Amino acid sequence: MKKKSIESLFRPAVQQLGGYVPGEQPQEGGWTKLNTNENPFPPAPSVVEAMEEAAKSSLQKYPDPLVSSFRKAAAELFDVDPEWVIPGNGSDEVLTILFRTFVEPGESIAFPYPSYVLYGTLAEIQGARYEHLALNDDWSLTRDAVKRAQAQKMVLIPNPNSPSGTVWSTEEILELVPSEGILVHDEAYGDFRDKSISRELLDSDVGNQIVVTRTLSKSYSLAGIRFGFAVAHPEVIAGMRKVKDSYNCDAISIAAATAALKDQATMRERVEMICRTRQELTRDLEQMGFQVQPSEANFVWTTHPNRSHFEIYDELKKRKILVRYMKFPEAGPNLDTLVDGLRITIGTEEQIQTLVSALREIV
Ligand SMILES: *Cc1c(COP(=O)(O)O)cnc(C)c1O
Repeated sequence: MKKKSIESLFRPAVQQLGGYVPGEQPQEGGWTKLNTNENPFPPAPSVVEAMEEAAKSSLQKYPDPLVSSFRKAAAELFDVDPEWVIPGNGSDEVLTILFRTFVEPGESIAFPYPSYVLYGTLAEIQGARYEHLALNDDWSLTRDAVKRAQAQKMVLIPNPNSPSGTVWSTEEILELVPSEGILVHDEAYGDFRDKSISRELLDSDVGNQIVVTRTLSKSYSLAGIRFGFAVAHPEVIAGMRKVKDSYNCDAISIAAATAALKDQATMRERVEMICRTRQELTRDLEQMGFQVQPSEANFVWTTHPNRSHFEIYDELKKRKILVRYMKFPEAGPNLDTLVDGLRITIGTEEQIQTLVSALREIV
């Protein structure tokens, strides 16, 4: 019998899928790693203790499917009832849950371009269509983008945006809420922002159409455990709960995430250090002739008026310094500064000094 081609058995949506390509994760040591927006500092000691405690006492049982301890801590932080909170295995899983809850195959979603490209991949997996919301040179949304957003089933906005680190105001976000759909306000970098706007969004007239997503990966130094959550009106959370796996968060990461949220002081201290180092890096880059977008995140987007961004990335890589080279071929002809550039994660002061010395040699 002839061997069957398995690819022809894949769902058409999967056959066509390119697949999301995450940033490089070298597994050997010796790298100055400034490419995937991780926190350069280790998590708080109380977090590691909580994980050890959970490892000793709770591994033989299934975890709490409603993740009550964490939801209570998150609810206190956001000043809402625990019914407003749903956790996930990283905020990427929360996004997957949102697509499965709200987006029917064939429906259309939209997100700014350039922003987080995973949104497009999630749409494709779901068999949905996606549109790019076009940006101006300063990363503001075009009028056309606002009109198109309103006609979508779901609009996803990272705010602060990645890769730019720039922010949109409450008024700008509220304009994007679809008339018959959901707006996902992805606050992966929300703790680095000067002032959170999630409360204003959820309290607005269209607050029940808005879902705020958060991750423990960046500000809480916990990319390794995979934990994120959403905050939204309870009617939204009720639908999402039907869709999620029963035990989507494991006992050890629940313990870690709960302890992390309870130690706001350590998180804040580290965020402040990162923001100070971001200012220093911005100043040094500008002295070397780079343009830097004003960032409210733990990274900066930078371009150089007359040097090849790929070459700079490559020269840094030869010196075992990894930054993210990104290109956005569909950004449009009048958006020169958006087409390609470097996204640099803010590491420790020492890591950033290593980077700056190398850049001084290269540029
Ligand atoms: C990092 C990131 C996420 C994913 O966070 P995880 O919780 O690690 O899955 C989501 N959205 C944006 C914009 C991000 O940069």
